[in-house]
Amino acid sequence: VKPAGRTILASTIAKPYTEEITENVSKLSITPKLVGFLANDDPAAEMYANWTGKTCQSLGFDYELRQVDKNDLEGALIKANKDDQVNGIMVYFPVFGNNQDQYLQQLISTEKDVEGLNFLYYHNLYHNVRFLDPPANEQKSILPCTPLAMVKILEYLGVYNKLLHYGNRLYGKKVLVVNRSEIVGRPLAALLANDGATVYSVDINNIQQFTRGDDLSEQRHKVIELDSSEYSVENLAPTCDVIITGVPSDKYKFPTEYVRNGTVVINFSSAKNFNDDIKTKAALYVPSIGKVTISMLLRNLLRLIDNKNIRRLK
Ligand code: NAD
Repeated sequence: VKPAGRTILASTIAKPYTEEITENVSKLSITPKLVGFLANDDPAAEMYANWTGKTCQSLGFDYELRQVDKNDLEGALIKANKDDQVNGIMVYFPVFGNNQDQYLQQLISTEKDVEGLNFLYYHNLYHNVRFLDPPANEQKSILPCTPLAMVKILEYLGVYNKLLHYGNRLYGKKVLVVNRSEIVGRPLAALLANDGATVYSVDINNIQQFTRGDDLSEQRHKVIELDSSEYSVENLAPTCDVIITGVPSDKYKFPTEYVRNGTVVINFSSAKNFNDDIKTKAALYVPSIGKVTISMLLRNLLRLIDNKNIRRLK
């Protein structure tokens, strides 16, 4: 039997964004330059770096991969921060694989942080602050690119209801997110809750609920830990409109039987977190999201350039 739902590829969702990006790049007087720093010998990171380079070039950006010894990365980042020829900087983590990586990440200038991983941007996200320059509100804050990609995907899939006011467009939606990393899962849960959803955020230890309240009376989301004797993935999943997974393990599979018919299902892990039979349940299934993420990275780069131009004109 033919499944009732559809599989939607990231390339399809990314297309309008790549077109918009190409057009906006062509309007600039400069060729924007992204520099990627590779300071580990992880073949997966190198593959990702090459892929970033190819995407950059195809959309009209300059891309330079700088391979440095991990002990020289700090100096290399400081130099790139000061270099006017460099518009965007990213590092392929892990480098040291410990807290020193956070220090290196925070060292990237907010003016060049294409991934949106600076403390300033996270703080704005968690506090539902959408502009860098209130009350003028001309310079939009930067969002971390994977959570932002997820928002764009949910918009494309029609989970965001455009009839509702901006900022409330997930009102009434329930979303399960299996991953609570600082890079993706936690900011994603906050972002979706700030837009009005009730989010169940699952990690290896527990389940938390992120919500602005059933009636959205709160200005930003609140988090509570759910009692494990009452709440489980098994009993929450069937109540959800959307299920998002990001478990970095080939062995992990989200149980298809927990998924209600007609659910929107998205996997952002590089591992396949669903078995193929998910297609018999999902209304819309997005098996991977990388192409949308990289579009958001380059969109962030253009936004950084815009914001800088606005500041210069002041
Ligand atoms: P991470 O290791 O930092 O976090 C993994 C999260 O999953 C943690 O919150 C952990 O508690 C949770 N988890 C692990 N096993 C679980 C289980 N059995 N049940 C419930 N929760 C469990 O990883 P990360 O940086 O968040 O990346 C996750 C995956 O997403 C990786 O495969 C990574 O490559 C991919 N990723 C994809 C994109 C993209 O744009 N496509 C971007 C970033 C990361």
